[in-house]
Amino acid sequence: MFREVNGKLHVEGVNIEEIAESGTPVYITSKAMLENNIESYRAAFPDARMLYAVKANNNISIMRIISKKGFGADVFSDGELYLALLAGFKPEYILFNGNSKSRKEIEYGVRTGVKFSVDSVDELHAISEVAKEENKEVKIAFRINPDISPDTHPKIATGLKKSKFGIPWEEVIDAYKTAVKLPGVKPVGIHCHIGSQITDLSPFVEALNRIVDVAKKVEKLGVELEFLDLGGGLGIDYHAEGVPAPSELANKLMPTFRERIAELKSEPQLWLEPGRSIIGNTTILLTRVNSVKKAYKNFVAVDAGFNLLIRPAMYNAYHRVSVANKMGQKEEEEYTVVGPICESGDILAENRKLPKVERGDLIAVFDAGAYGFVMSSQYNGRPRCAEILVDRDRWFVIREWESFCDVVGKQIVVDF
Ligand SMILES: *Cc1c(COP(=O)(O)O)cnc(C)c1O
Repeated sequence: MFREVNGKLHVEGVNIEEIAESGTPVYITSKAMLENNIESYRAAFPDARMLYAVKANNNISIMRIISKKGFGADVFSDGELYLALLAGFKPEYILFNGNSKSRKEIEYGVRTGVKFSVDSVDELHAISEVAKEENKEVKIAFRINPDISPDTHPKIATGLKKSKFGIPWEEVIDAYKTAVKLPGVKPVGIHCHIGSQITDLSPFVEALNRIVDVAKKVEKLGVELEFLDLGGGLGIDYHAEGVPAPSELANKLMPTFRERIAELKSEPQLWLEPGRSIIGNTTILLTRVNSVKKAYKNFVAVDAGFNLLIRPAMYNAYHRVSVANKMGQKEEEEYTVVGPICESGDILAENRKLPKVERGDLIAVFDAGAYGFVMSSQYNGRPRCAEILVDRDRWFVIREWESFCDVVGKQIVVDF
């Protein structure tokens, strides 16, 4: 879907130069690529339910494509719940996640009829109170902390013993005991999520085994389990060196799932919550070169920085980059691509061999669809950029460029 035609990068049938004429920087998403990713999950896990992790990318046009394919949604705030409902996800397949839900968020979740992933017994009591007031019964799962260390960046490993998420798996049975007795809440599932950008599959199997171990004990309390939710976390191929596809995850996981599920009385469905592996590789961030400078290094200064893509600065993340209007040209020199933000850490790509870069060139930053725009800010007074969706040879603005109005918008000037 991203390929070279006559030296120019094309997204499906569209030359990125044509889009860049409307303005840069800009996020550009390939609809076909997104549909491919969705289909590969559906084909790999025909009997499982997939909940798209909204936090990876919450653009409504994009999420509508995902919801129409039968996915549910995993949301982490009332704002994400609001967006997920707008995008057409069905409340019964929305799981309201989060380790710190406010009273207002719980009320919104209870009223809309979504399921809750409960992060503590304290939160369970809060949900029970609201459910009683609203005369509702809320289906819940506890988020367990499985104490598993996947090989990923520490900031995105979420199931470590010392992590803030979930209830230690050894202690969660007491939480279920409490839930069985409390009015307004009904335990129907078990939830965990071990982290993100995981490319070694064995931690997923470990987590599944943990969940089933817990499930056996939970069932003894008279709980009928509807789902076991293994979370998201499958990594994508930032380095273009080959990473496991959803089908490989399924091959690794499903034999264990089938074997171990037979040990249970109920027949819970497997739930998964992919985010990055659905949307990450569908999108580039296209940015224009403002200037090239030979200093300590060859610096290419572009119009997008960590205000729009914070992953390199925050996680030391690697994103492939290309000179999008000089595709296929000989890579002559080593460059470091930096943004316009007043911070030394504002580096998008370090020490990359690229064709000779000049002012006005376009740099494509690949695999920017997940945790890209959603983590953007207006730092340095910069309006956020637009998002574009490409469908074959047509393209659509799915989020407009912000203007100074958006930067000033909520400020109230007190004139002393
Ligand atoms: C972030 C998150 C996901 C999605 O993770 P990816 O690595 O993007 O697939 C799924 N479930 C939960 C609970 C999360 O916090």
